[in-house]
Amino acid sequence: MGEIGLRVQPPSEKCDDPKCPWHGHVKIHGRYFEGVVVSDKGKKTVVVERQHYHYLKKYERYELRRSKIHAHNPPCVGARVGDRVLIAETRPLSKTKSFTVVAVMKRGG
Ligand SMILES: [Zn+2]
Repeated sequence: MGEIGLRVQPPSEKCDDPKCPWHGHVKIHGRYFEGVVVSDKGKKTVVVERQHYHYLKKYERYELRRSKIHAHNPPCVGARVGDRVLIAETRPLSKTKSFTVVAVMKRGG
């Protein structure tokens, strides 16, 4: 169990980002998801695509849906496109971000 309350390894590097969940002032709470980074063009921001199943009552089946979530990418985590990451909800960090990348579960392309 890490110091932030999720079962993930803390990053091996340290950073001085105040918005970092490990080394800054931001506490994580609420929901967390796994997803794949589809964009890392933003400064300390990544876009994470999450797949989830949505139940359609009318057709009595599940439909695979995708949603995109903007998340803070602290320097010590350094998520890149293709990485499978764990993101967690935080207080709003900017207009579009209220999630932060907590850890890279698997490095990708
Ligand atoms: Zn950090």
